[in-house]
Amino acid sequence: RRPYSDEVKRAQTQSVATPGPTIFDKILSREIPADIIYEDDLCLAFNDVAPQAPVHFLVIPKRRIPRLQDAEESDKEVIVYLLELLGHLMSVARALAAPRAPLGWRLVVNNGRAGAQSVYHLHLHVLGGGRWAGRPG
Ligand code: 5GP
Repeated sequence: RRPYSDEVKRAQTQSVATPGPTIFDKILSREIPADIIYEDDLCLAFNDVAPQAPVHFLVIPKRRIPRLQDAEESDKEVIVYLLELLGHLMSVARALAAPRAPLGWRLVVNNGRAGAQSVYHLHLHVLGGGRWAGRPG
């Protein structure tokens, strides 16, 4: 496993949050294949192509929000929608993690250049499986 600082460095070589589509839009549109484990009206979950733990999948909203910090709005109705969406993503992550990593798991959101984010489409990482969930020991 690469040291974490390398991940931050890799993320910093990517452009800052851009409004354009990302590789995850191509996964959503089935333009490129992914190992999809769950889908509903609001989100898609699929296994990470470069797993950092025995169980490593991503939960993404269908609506593209570049970073978690972009999930803000002034319109009250949109705020409610976003909060429900974020709660839904976490709830789906929990439900999918339970049978796959019964001993425990981690939920990670990387945000921005210094936050090791490389794909600017909000995603929840779920890491688990066995004793090792991306941490030594
Ligand atoms: P970030 O560094 O932005 O938090 O995480 C992006 C994640 O997306 C990485 O763990 C990376 O392995 C994963 N990823 C990038 N491209 C693809 C892809 O084409 N397919 C899948 N399944 N995962 C991808």
